Amino acid sequence: MLKKFFPDHYYESIYDIDLFHLREDGIKGFILDLDNTIVARNSSTVSDDLKHWLDLLKEHDIEACILSNNWKQRVSSIAEQVELPLVARAAKPRKGAFKRALDVLGTGKEETVVVGDQIFTDVFGGNIAGLRTILVMPMSNHDGIHTKFLRHLERLVMKRWQKCGVQG
Ligand SMILES: [Mg+2]
Repeated sequence: MLKKFFPDHYYESIYDIDLFHLREDGIKGFILDLDNTIVARNSSTVSDDLKHWLDLLKEHDIEACILSNNWKQRVSSIAEQVELPLVARAAKPRKGAFKRALDVLGTGKEETVVVGDQIFTDVFGGNIAGLRTILVMPMSNHDGIHTKFLRHLERLVMKRWQKCGVQG
């Protein structure tokens, strides 16, 4: 059961993800969390690094879609800036959230990876939905109230999976 909280890969940031290897492995779709994964939670600015990375995804023939539990105007404005489809108010970790994103991407479970900064929404949700999962370090320490609480539990889980040898 604890394994459902372990990601398949773990990286410092999205920029460290090995796109070539994932593509070789049959991955065609990325379900991207927004807050603290591709943009810091307290920011509405899309960085050049992010734009460049999204171009790299395209070059690797990987489709991307944003899946966020957030519903604020800021989220749709960011999705527009990066020209990615958005599923907002997603209710991760529920399976239905990931199903909606898969429908948008048009990719199968085995071809899709979830990328996010939270174990209890992105990783756990992705795992129970049958997808591959990548955990990245949060881009900022600005978190919502619920997340702040969950970060303490995350640290406990991470201690366990680091012992089990989860790698990038
Ligand atoms: Mg997040």
